[in-house]
Amino acid sequence: MLTIAISKGRIYDDTLPLLAEAGIIPIDNPKTSRKLILRTNQDDVKLVIIRATDVPTFVEYGAADMGIAGKDVLMEHGAENLYEPLDLGIAKCRMMTATPVNAPEISGRIKVATKYVKTAQRYFAGIGVQAEIIKLYGAMELAPLVGLADCIVDIVETGNTLKANGLVAKELITHISSRLVVNKASMKMKHGIIQPLIDQFEKTIENRH
Ligand code: AMP
Repeated sequence: MLTIAISKGRIYDDTLPLLAEAGIIPIDNPKTSRKLILRTNQDDVKLVIIRATDVPTFVEYGAADMGIAGKDVLMEHGAENLYEPLDLGIAKCRMMTATPVNAPEISGRIKVATKYVKTAQRYFAGIGVQAEIIKLYGAMELAPLVGLADCIVDIVETGNTLKANGLVAKELITHISSRLVVNKASMKMKHGIIQPLIDQFEKTIENRH
């Protein structure tokens, strides 16, 4: 049995074609079904539909053999006990700092609102800026507008969300895309199923370029 952990939405939609090329087609549709375990056309392959931030945890503990997670999630989670064999090149975006348009330069300690606490801490420490990181779970864009923070660290795709809230992207922290992650024990025990799947994904991605 092979269990693949995946989150609903953008990553799921972008992964479906990759799975299809590998001959794996879900029978249930997460958009219309409330099932958390999706059967596929292959009796020995199932998908578990979970929160994006939970994917590394499921894979680390072996509750799923493999999973698909954004680099943002992996950087924040830390990657113990799992391999990251492949950049799937999907759900691409950037992690950036952003401030209100025309915000004055801040000298000294800055306040940063983000849900990516560890990544933000590492980034500001790396550039030698003293930062107080304020953890939020969403609507980061609001923080500078109400005086909660000087800037935010968030994911930017088109920039529309920032623009709609009077913010502007400043520093690029890193480029983000979704990665395939594999449980280390599964990689050994189920090498015969997992390696061909990795090879097939890789081939599909290469053919796209
Ligand atoms: P945009 O307005 O296109 O810049 O999109 C920004 C918002 O969409 C961010 O605040 C994220 O919540 C979300 N978003 C866009 N792309 C991704 C992605 N690849 N992974 C996770 N979240 C994303």
